[in-house]
Amino acid sequence: MKIFKFGGASVKDAESVKNVAAIIRLFPGERLVVVVSAMGKTTNGLEKVVKAHCNKTGEATSLLQEVKSYHDTILESLFPDSNASVYGKVNNFFVEIDWVLEEEPRSFDFVYDQIVAVGELISTAIVQSYLDEQGIACKWLDIRDCIRTDNTYREGKVDWVESEKRIKQIIPTLINDRNPIVVTQGFIGATSENFTTTLGREGSDYTAAIIAHLLDGESVTIWKDVPGVLNADPKYFNDAQKLEQLSYHDAIELAYYGASVIHPKTIKPLENKNIPLFVKSFMQPQGKGTVVGKDLTTKPQVPSFIFKSDQVLVSLAAKDFSFIAEDNLSSIFATFAACGVKMNLMQNSAISFSVCFDDDKNKTFMLIELLKKDYWVRYNEGLQLYTIRYYYPSTIVNLSQGREILLEQRSRTTAQLVMKEIVAS
Ligand code: ASP
Ligand code: MG
Repeated sequence: MKIFKFGGASVKDAESVKNVAAIIRLFPGERLVVVVSAMGKTTNGLEKVVKAHCNKTGEATSLLQEVKSYHDTILESLFPDSNASVYGKVNNFFVEIDWVLEEEPRSFDFVYDQIVAVGELISTAIVQSYLDEQGIACKWLDIRDCIRTDNTYREGKVDWVESEKRIKQIIPTLINDRNPIVVTQGFIGATSENFTTTLGREGSDYTAAIIAHLLDGESVTIWKDVPGVLNADPKYFNDAQKLEQLSYHDAIELAYYGASVIHPKTIKPLENKNIPLFVKSFMQPQGKGTVVGKDLTTKPQVPSFIFKSDQVLVSLAAKDFSFIAEDNLSSIFATFAACGVKMNLMQNSAISFSVCFDDDKNKTFMLIELLKKDYWVRYNEGLQLYTIRYYYPSTIVNLSQGREILLEQRSRTTAQLVMKEIVAS
């Protein structure tokens, strides 16, 4: 059984959905679990609905209407027959959102998951109905029946034992020679009380990996709008190059530091069962793409660059003149964890501790206020973080042209630089 994952960009309009069908036709008779994300920017759209509802701005209904209209356009183009059953299915999912909006908002994260998950329920209803209508035999699966999580809304932790039991019971009853394909949602799961959870933004890759791991899949293919894993983001680097193959280890490191092509949680469940991961272009499905797998060394061996903007660098010194050792570090880590701020890079000396993290304005403010109680806090905003795997000394010299390096860390394989653009005065 192969697992395919189609992200938002690959189902962003009617033409894209047709393209998904064309890709699936390239695999006649194969047993496939097709994991699909919400269409285009639907998740962002639904996030806005959640915020409007929780902040009571009065705009939730009109924002939801935008999401509905977007899907209507796709539906009308794919299903000219207005009696097609998919219309009713999609409508029922939207009604679930209407019900949430009628209630007083409970906790933000809970409401978020109940509303945002509908994006995936709808996209999969549309894709499955379209494939079916095209004569591609397939079934729709509500993955919430299979993937169980705890109740950490917006970042559900997978209950692997319970999920394995369920998935092994359910999926084999759906897939057979007459019906080799199942279409299901990425990104979502459910608690033991059947409340919907999500697995964290961009979590559909992770869903594909969970399914592959639990069913001992043959491979996972992530269909992307790029030809494979590149050594740099072409938005920021002129001569990005495609990597033919990657070790699991390199793939994890690159994803963890922010290469957005693969969700960082995706690799481990695959590595654990030696399941290869292909990253391929949905525009050129016959292309070779990139393969991540067992005993592969990364090729070509060129430096890989990961760029993150909007970074904050905070430096702390204890007000009571104590050293930055275990006591202070554990209280600093606890404060970061309490504020939900993830550290991208850290460095300590006897009396100071520096950390670089993504600037999420609300969290940054709260964090700095809390830290100020016990520490002298200095900070810089608007910085860039570069992570370079397999760097050469010259790579760093070139990269730091016109920039001031505020913090630098190097291991044998990876260099990280926090930099600030030098503005000519
Ligand atoms: N639709 C979700 C998101 O945009 C999950 C995903 O795309 O992987 O975050
Ligand atoms: Mg997405």
